[in-house]
Amino acid sequence: MEKFLNFFCYSLLFVLLSCSHHITADRIYFNAKIWTGDSSNPAATSLAMKDSLIIYVGDDYESYKGAATQLIDLQGKMVVPGFIDNHTHFLGGGYQLASVNLRSVKSPKEFVATLHQYVFALTDNRWILGGDWDHEAWGGELPRKEWVDSVTGNHPVFLNRYDGHMAMANSVALKLAGINKNTMNPPGGEIVKDVAGNPTGVLRDEAMNLVYKIIPDPSSSVLDESLQRAIQHAFEHGLTQVHDMSSYGGWLDLSTYRRAYANHRLDLRIYSFVPIYTWKKLDSFVKKNGWGNDMLRWGGLKGFVDGSLGSTTAWFYQPYLDAPHSTGLQVTDTNLLRQWVIEADAVGLHIATHAIGDRANDWILGVYEEAENKNGKKDRRFRVEHAQHLTESAITRFRALQVIPSMQPYHAIDDGKWAAKRLDSDRLKRTYAFKSLLTTGANLTFGSDWTVAPLDPIAGIYAAVTRRTLDDKNPDGWYPQEKISVEDALKCYTVNNAYAGFQENKLGKLKAGMLSDFVVLSDNLFSVAPEKIRDIKVLRTVVNGKEVYLKKDQ
Ligand SMILES: [Zn+2]
Repeated sequence: MEKFLNFFCYSLLFVLLSCSHHITADRIYFNAKIWTGDSSNPAATSLAMKDSLIIYVGDDYESYKGAATQLIDLQGKMVVPGFIDNHTHFLGGGYQLASVNLRSVKSPKEFVATLHQYVFALTDNRWILGGDWDHEAWGGELPRKEWVDSVTGNHPVFLNRYDGHMAMANSVALKLAGINKNTMNPPGGEIVKDVAGNPTGVLRDEAMNLVYKIIPDPSSSVLDESLQRAIQHAFEHGLTQVHDMSSYGGWLDLSTYRRAYANHRLDLRIYSFVPIYTWKKLDSFVKKNGWGNDMLRWGGLKGFVDGSLGSTTAWFYQPYLDAPHSTGLQVTDTNLLRQWVIEADAVGLHIATHAIGDRANDWILGVYEEAENKNGKKDRRFRVEHAQHLTESAITRFRALQVIPSMQPYHAIDDGKWAAKRLDSDRLKRTYAFKSLLTTGANLTFGSDWTVAPLDPIAGIYAAVTRRTLDDKNPDGWYPQEKISVEDALKCYTVNNAYAGFQENKLGKLKAGMLSDFVVLSDNLFSVAPEKIRDIKVLRTVVNGKEVYLKKDQ
């Protein structure tokens, strides 16, 4: 029987292959250096496609050529599968592109001046949001409401640190939120106060919700504009799919994507996650609407164990060097989080949980193991978002439990500038442990966490391959034993990410029958010096067979 089946399959394959020679391509890209991501056919010089599918990848495209076929000479440029970003806050990013940008501010003075300039151009009394400031850029002093009150007038202001784990309100916003001297810290959060006990304006983690909950939701038109701006930005950086961890509570994000899809305005693929505490709602939603389609997928849940290293709220076994009484915090009630993971897994939903500190990572791996023991073996693809600081045993457990480390390499070269003041070298040496995780055979995946880091896979590949910190103080790499090869980094952004979204049969590789998503690069990732990788530009981006980005002045 088995023999017969084999014979049958081979015959079918043969018929399909011979038929495919009669398919005429819409477009053929030739004279390229293609890295396919397909181990059975790793390199090629041409690619043919029809409608949304790739029909051929190889060196002899003649038989796919017809009278109407468009031929595009890529002049020896490198082609890779469309990049997938495993973790974005996409709509917030699109909003931020048009809001005040404090990311590159290097002093309190510049902070105020940049904000002043932005406020000056506004004609109404709207909320001022975003910002993405980094107090580490001017020595670590936290911003205070007094810095900005005199330039922000009647505008309520709530500007977040770039990691999203702290934000600073001005006096107008504090008043609207009812936060004063007497307000107590909510569980999982902190209202930073000065020596006199007055709030300084900075709120950490859960305390931020005291303000976030009073900010009116953005209108549909603002969300739609943010989405289109973000999509354009993604195409310019060679992204053909993002996994979105939400910016506006998940459901508002998902409805924005669904509206765009219904209006034929969703040209980027999106896998949209909603918060884990809404798992029952998602379960009913999936039962009614399925899991989406190739352009827009849902069915994923995002939970949080802890905060971040930058905000000293990541959960560790040992205290921080610069906060000797603190081991960080759990931002979600761990009893509830455990229960949600087990219940949501039982109904087949996909779970991704944020864990940064070593203790947070061990904790979530333990809960994942428990879920598998309770609910039985199945193809569940649990993810840990960030997986930033790991114990030795955690490194092997990812592979053993088939849990996906969902990491963001640019954070490594950013945190590497200052992480040594928080953590001792024993903990640092298992920080962003790319190589160690790959060596165990874990399905390592990469992304940006935009807007925490730029929405730019090339910058991510540069970071993973060189581990050169942004201050250029580690030319041979920060903890260089964790550097990985260009090819491995490419896999993390393509093949492995497709797997992490249950779409490995359609995305992540250039192969006949796969969806036609790919990118043309200005230089060959394999032949430039590693430190030059960050200068490589995206020349074209193709999604679903459609050229969605073509760089001007090539
Ligand atoms: Zn995030």
